[in-house]
Order: sequence, then structure tokens, then C-alpha cells
Amino acid sequence: MNNKGSVVIISGPSGSGKGTTVKAMLSQRKQVRLSVSATTRPPRPGEENGREYFFLTKDEFEKRIQNGDMLEHAQYCDNLYGTPKEYITLCTEKGEDVILEIEVQGGMQVKSKLPQAISIFLIPPDRKSLEKRLRGRGTESEDVILQRLKRADEELQYADKYDYVVVCGEMQKCVDDIFAIIDSKKLESENMIDYIKENF
Ligand code: 5GP
Repeated sequence: MNNKGSVVIISGPSGSGKGTTVKAMLSQRKQVRLSVSATTRPPRPGEENGREYFFLTKDEFEKRIQNGDMLEHAQYCDNLYGTPKEYITLCTEKGEDVILEIEVQGGMQVKSKLPQAISIFLIPPDRKSLEKRLRGRGTESEDVILQRLKRADEELQYADKYDYVVVCGEMQKCVDDIFAIIDSKKLESENMIDYIKENF
């Protein structure tokens, strides 16, 4: 059996339920880790540097890119977001599954650099719930909400570029679907070759 952990890309429009889903996954499986991204967006109330994001200035962010520290990066609604490389390797080497909760441009970059990564596109059950979730968060101005709705329409076009699409309606069902995907990856024949060699 392949003892390495999986890289799991989770994308989906803002309001798809990614954040809540990932939180539930982290609380339910101890070998699941979340990659903390870097961003130039200002922290929302309650967000802490190093926990939700590494909050960087544009200059600091660009330096990280130049140093080759980022696995991927992308611009999203006027801000830069990126995945630091080091943590991903650290986790997967230890057999931990690491989740990258990132937007679609970044998702595509990771998929081309790490073809063995599992890519999952999360969608809310319908457009109404998407809008409701976006507004319900209550942390964004109307301007930002409209910007994010427009971006959501653009992001939905990417769904078929992902390995899986999971509907995020009832939370536990969504979490179970994602765990089933992660588990089945470990049983793919190419990941079982080492097990067969060792045991037969
Ligand atoms: P938010 O500002 O709501 O925290 O995130 C905005 C969008 O950026 C979300 O779709 C989120 O998944 C995405 N995002 C967060 N971190 C990263 C990252 O490291 N890389 C990329 N490409 N997108 C990210």
C-alpha cells in the first residue's frame, strides 16, 4: 500500500460551503491537514495570521513567488492567494492527507504540477443557496458580494476540469462523499503495487 498522504484540491465558488466542509473534515479525521495559504487580502474579523492565512503585503508575496516558495498562486478579486510548498511535502511524506482549499486557477496549476492530486469541485445545491450563503456570511460589502457572484459564475465553468463534483447540501453527506473519494484513491491499483510486492 502506498503510505504517502494525498494532496486534495477542493475548489468551488465562494458560498459553496468549502470552509465549513473542510472544518468538519479536520475535526473528523486526525490524519487530515489543511494547507494554510498566503494572501494579500486583509484579515476578516476573528482571522489570525498563520491560522486562516499568512497575511502578507504585495511585496512580501511577490518575494515568496520569486524564491520559488509557492506551489501555485493566483489573483482572486483584486488580491493574491498562494499555496506554500513546504508544508505539503511535509504532510504527504508523513502519510497525512493535505487539503488545499483554493480557487480554480490555482487548482489547475496544482493538477498540472502534481497529477496524482485529487481534485474536487464543490457546488451548493442551487443558485439560490449560493446567494443566501454569500449574503448570510455578513462580512462582505454589497460590492464584494456582487463581485464574488460574478466570479462564482465564471468558476462554475471549471467544474468539468475536476476529477469529482460534490454537491454540498447536507454537510455530513458532503464530508462522507469526500472521504469516500480520498479512501478510494488509496486503493487504486497503482497505489497497491507496493503492498502486493511486500506481501506476496
Ligand atoms: P477568501 O478571501 O474568501 O478567504 O478566499 C477567496 C478565494 O480564494 C476562495 O475561493 C479560496 O478558496 C481561494 N484561495 C484561498 N487560498 C488560496 C490559495 O492558496 N491559492 C489559490 N489559488 N486560491 C486560494
